[in-house]
Amino acid sequence: MDEHAFVLERQHFRHLLAALQERGYQTIGPTVREGAIVYDVIESDTDLPVGWGDIQDEGSYQLMQRAEAALFGYTLSPQSWKRFLHPPDVRLWQAHRTDGTFSITPAADEIPRCAFIGVRACELHAIAILDRVFLDGAFVDPIYQRRRAHTFIVAVNCGQASGTCFCASMQTGPAVDSGFDLALTEVIDAERHYFVVNVGTEGGAEVLNALPHREASAEEIAAAAQIVAATAEQMGRSLETANLKATLYNRSEDPLWDEVAERCLTCGNCTLVCPTCFCTTVTDVTDLSGAVAERRRQWDSCFTMEFSYIHGGSVRYTPKARYRQWMTHKLASWIDQFGVSGCVGCGRCITWCPVGIDITDMARRLQTADQPLGEAR
Ligand code: SF4
Ligand code: SF4
Repeated sequence: MDEHAFVLERQHFRHLLAALQERGYQTIGPTVREGAIVYDVIESDTDLPVGWGDIQDEGSYQLMQRAEAALFGYTLSPQSWKRFLHPPDVRLWQAHRTDGTFSITPAADEIPRCAFIGVRACELHAIAILDRVFLDGAFVDPIYQRRRAHTFIVAVNCGQASGTCFCASMQTGPAVDSGFDLALTEVIDAERHYFVVNVGTEGGAEVLNALPHREASAEEIAAAAQIVAATAEQMGRSLETANLKATLYNRSEDPLWDEVAERCLTCGNCTLVCPTCFCTTVTDVTDLSGAVAERRRQWDSCFTMEFSYIHGGSVRYTPKARYRQWMTHKLASWIDQFGVSGCVGCGRCITWCPVGIDITDMARRLQTADQPLGEAR
């Protein structure tokens, strides 16, 4: 935790949202809807999940009322920030037929300036991974680039871990380390409710200076650090990353893949909730009159048959091949492709798998299989 920090009292939190709104940002943050915490537009602090927490485990998620009125007392939303930076459905262009010819209208370029409120450490790492995918390669994605350029990030250190979290073993959390404008730690004790604030950018400093705040004392900074340290001890799961890439490459014919395939529904939930899965498909649609056509880009999943369809058939036509492809890409070939693991340990794929398939359990079982690497069992 940064030794130079500030304090924002709970009763002044609403000024943070107001300051961002005055600067033209649409404030997006956690809110309770349909029995879950989702990320959506929030207008004031009353829209936040005040007093709500969550209980997560393999294939299960449940909101619970907390004893105290924490604003960020939950762990993670099923959604990730991916849906704002890399939307699930975007129009690429539209064509209109007039007088026997076509005119093309590019996609609307109006991108709202968004301030993300409550970004967790693992989610910051996920955004950094998406930056590598969409901005750092030979081909920059202009849709992602425009949205990312307009983003202000208010990170919040985790005060609790869920049963499916394993960011500590991935070195992606629970402490926020970089990639934010402002980072908060929510502290609630017997007398007080306040936020210890770290500043990450000049933009963050400018916003903080517009709020009632003061320098944090050494005791307040220590209290915040203690909360994050306690969270690291609560991780429900862990993943041993040493030799994992080699294990996955060498055990591609392990019978465990057949075993998991008997359970996997190939529903694609794990890819949709994953904050780093980025694959898309392109769909062309025409209206009934044939006067208007448009091309849309939509999230796809390596769990669909169509995803690997190549002139006459799908390359990965079994659930075994598709699960193996997803997990091997996430934890092994992603490193060769982008220089980092594709997993940040958020645990969403474990929580939201309807049959409770656990990527950490699969990895552990492959790693502890008794056959030498490279030999099929
Ligand atoms: S692993 Fe689970 S979430 Fe992923 S496709 Fe299979 S059943 Fe669906
Ligand atoms: S693979 Fe699972 S745990 Fe890892 S980042 Fe994706 S959803 Fe989170």
